[in-house]
Amino acid sequence: MEKAKKEGTAPAVRDGVSPPPAVNPEFLARHGRKKKRLFSADGYVEGILSGNNAILSEAITLIESNLPEHTAIAQEIIAKCLPHSGKSVRIGITGIPGAGKSTFIETFGLHLTRSGKKLAVLAIDPSSQNSGGSILGDKTRMQKLGADSNAFIRPSPSAGTPGGVASRTRESILLCEAAGFDTVIVETVGVGQSETAVRSMVDFFLLLMLAGTGDELQGIKRGIMEMADVVAINKADGDNTAKAELAKHSLQNALNLFPVIRPGWHPRVLACSALEDRGIDDIIGAIGDFVKVTKKNGFFDEQRKAQDVIRMHDTIIEALKNSFYRNEKISEMKGFLEAQIREGKITSFKAASELLDVYFGRQKDC
Ligand code: GDP
Repeated sequence: MEKAKKEGTAPAVRDGVSPPPAVNPEFLARHGRKKKRLFSADGYVEGILSGNNAILSEAITLIESNLPEHTAIAQEIIAKCLPHSGKSVRIGITGIPGAGKSTFIETFGLHLTRSGKKLAVLAIDPSSQNSGGSILGDKTRMQKLGADSNAFIRPSPSAGTPGGVASRTRESILLCEAAGFDTVIVETVGVGQSETAVRSMVDFFLLLMLAGTGDELQGIKRGIMEMADVVAINKADGDNTAKAELAKHSLQNALNLFPVIRPGWHPRVLACSALEDRGIDDIIGAIGDFVKVTKKNGFFDEQRKAQDVIRMHDTIIEALKNSFYRNEKISEMKGFLEAQIREGKITSFKAASELLDVYFGRQKDC
């Protein structure tokens, strides 16, 4: 907290943004903040590095924003936080709704914070895009963890494309690391493409499952099983304990047949009860083993480098897409061509190629 050195960082002076009356992160930490203000990138960076969660949260909001002026300052913040990032263990957690993810994260998180660790939880919520409401916006989730000063919980609406969510969540991870969180959890609902995206930004992937629902795979595709470093059979309590043990053995046998994807690591199946706080230490132990083994054999760093390459491509695709759709001529033509497609007057390929020709300023050969 004492790291913020300079008092009164200069506010950003830019068109349409009034300078904030107070910009000292320490002041804000003490007095809270009533409305949204825009600092200079340095102001945000100082706040983040000093461990101010309110400023970290606002910086993440800038990362999530689609406004070009926010994108510019967000990129500056990320660039300045980058040298302070990278030191956490990044954990992806997925599972179908009801598997017990939030209960698990709370119990697991409290174990970590009790042992002096700092935990950030970033939750990707694909439901918010369609329903307008957000299951992750439910205030009753992770209440104890939310009140823990060593934890930071941040639900992110997944408005926009999966690619966009991925690059923004990756950037949010970097800011959390710069803020001193040594464990970062990225949570996603196990129903779609978001798993692949999350897998590409974490070191370790945990799949939460339930036992005894008939089909052990519960509609979870084999691909998702292959991504998992640990599969945890949750709700191994009460009448369900024996069923969970059985499911654990049959799944472990199934997983043993999969080829080894992460060198030196055979995915483990463990049983736990997030509600009754049982088996959580085994999972924490397995994560520790994974980190130890993969750091020793070099895979940990190799995976991060490979993920950085993916990040570069995602960033390019995101930037090109934004530039394309913000282009005035494209905006003018888009609606007309969409209508033409619906009326069957033009094929989607032809319409796309017309828009691309305009965007790239290509002449038509006729
Ligand atoms: P999510 O949708 O995956 O985040 O699942 P939740 O954490 O919201 O849990 C769904 C329901 O399962 C809630 O009623 C929890 O209380 C319950 N639940 C979660 N973990 C356990 C567990 O270990 N044992 C039992 N018996 N119930 C649990």
